[in-house]
Amino acid sequence: MRYAVIFCVLSSLFLPRAHAGEGQVLITRVNVFNSLKARMDKDVSVVIEGNRIAGVHDQRPEGPFDRVIDGGGHVLMPGLIDTHVHLAITAGLPESMDVPWDYLSHTMSKRSRDMLLRGFTSVRDLGGPVFGLKRAVDEGLVDGPRIFPSGAFITQTSGHGDFRRSVDGHPEFGGAATNGQRLGFYRLADGVPQVLASTRENLGKGATQIKIMGSGGVGSMFDPVDSIQYTLDELRAIVQAASDWDTYAAAHLHNAPAIRRAVEAGVMSVDHGFMMDEEGARMMAEKGVFLSTQFAILEIVFEMGFLTEWQLQKARMVVEASHDMVGYIKKFGIKTTFSSDSFGPESLSASLQTREFEARSKFFTPVEILQHATANAAELLELSGNRNPYPGKLGVIEAGAMADLIIVRGNPLEDISLLGDPAANLLLIMKDGKVYQDKLVE
Ligand code: ZN
Ligand code: ZN
Repeated sequence: MRYAVIFCVLSSLFLPRAHAGEGQVLITRVNVFNSLKARMDKDVSVVIEGNRIAGVHDQRPEGPFDRVIDGGGHVLMPGLIDTHVHLAITAGLPESMDVPWDYLSHTMSKRSRDMLLRGFTSVRDLGGPVFGLKRAVDEGLVDGPRIFPSGAFITQTSGHGDFRRSVDGHPEFGGAATNGQRLGFYRLADGVPQVLASTRENLGKGATQIKIMGSGGVGSMFDPVDSIQYTLDELRAIVQAASDWDTYAAAHLHNAPAIRRAVEAGVMSVDHGFMMDEEGARMMAEKGVFLSTQFAILEIVFEMGFLTEWQLQKARMVVEASHDMVGYIKKFGIKTTFSSDSFGPESLSASLQTREFEARSKFFTPVEILQHATANAAELLELSGNRNPYPGKLGVIEAGAMADLIIVRGNPLEDISLLGDPAANLLLIMKDGKVYQDKLVE
């Protein structure tokens, strides 16, 4: 008995602060966006117990409650999910990597808080040293979304994640590791043994999925955008090592041959996918591969200010070739998620995320965009299987789901751009049952 008491005291000491939630909370008078059924449930009440949603009710349930929040007839919806961010890349590339680790920890902390206050309660971080940040958020030391970390980019030599400067030697050929490599932003891995070691190294550090650089890209130093990166054998080895830990691989992919090769190898998340062709799109649909793509970046890339003329030339090629992508998404019904690639200096990182809603609205209805950012994104996160650090449903408002939700001023089903101005329109932000912002009483 005494031991049981001691155990309870000890375990409560080690419980992350955020998990304490607000106790038993009743939110009344809200219209709830049902992300699975794509409809609005009018004038209901939502009960939260600890960090879970206990129920959604037509009639106001009887208390007692620790707290009652009057939703004022506003829209309550699942917290937003962004399936492609880089919390650790807080400046241009490769400048963001030329910083001391303790400075980086402060810029990342601020970045994670900013994202939570934009209504993002979960993010998939697709490259960068964020394992410590995730831990600090989970322990309640830093405010931020749930983080699904990948760790270091796995890149081939001279691939899209090779952020050495042109004068830096290769570590295998007598060069020294760069600060970016030492901090864990990227790892050069060539050949099956090195990609296996690299994948397993990230898994051991707590990666919830593996991020591969599978084709050329815009922001990198050496690689042409049409280059295919990693051989089929290397890709298959990474996919196997990930699936042996019950998770999956996501790949940065622009050009069509690289997309086809990665999907053939078993990659389950095509990130970007701008230059896909019909065959690649069909393969993705058949295998249930997710498309985690971005629209705002296709406009913003020309406003960044730090790209070289060669990088801008690559950007023009990608944007030019991106026009067929939406047609393929619709023709084959490819599962698509909300994804911003948010990175860089503060204003760039913010606008990539906030402008994504309106950029998407040129091609999708508000309901579709809300589903990209809730139910679809949550389905992708579930591919992390046993490596998912947050067991519990995300992206839905229903009994048993995690208590991650936002209340919006106005109706995003009529005007999706409301979500692009979070400071004005997000009245309540709750993650894991804890309220991080409450403007309802103003
Ligand atoms: Zn990328
Ligand atoms: Zn990215």
